[in-house]
Amino acid sequence: MTGRKAGVCHSCRSKGHFFAECSNKRHCPWCKHGFVKCFEVERETKKKGKLFNCCSAKCRYWEWVDKGESCSKSSSTVTVNLNNSTTTEELQQINRTFQSWFG
Ligand SMILES: [Zn+2]
Ligand SMILES: [Zn+2]
Repeated sequence: MTGRKAGVCHSCRSKGHFFAECSNKRHCPWCKHGFVKCFEVERETKKKGKLFNCCSAKCRYWEWVDKGESCSKSSSTVTVNLNNSTTTEELQQINRTFQSWFG
């Protein structure tokens, strides 16, 4: 298993550097002290492959990122449709996924 996420920044999704080295990190809009991280849904659900933002400080902030929009581009172009397209069950799955990543 090589290359799964290797070299993909969890802040701006660029290749070649990691989140810790990213100069484009954005502060979390909720808690203001965590950083926004961008992940891809890997579970086998309808949402597989979709990008979403969440907070490195685990404040439970997260939002979908419209595919085709880079997380590092102006945040005003990010489409948030959390409430009308996501079921509670999906949210719980995603939250469990976060927890495994954030350990
Ligand atoms: Zn980056
Ligand atoms: Zn936060």
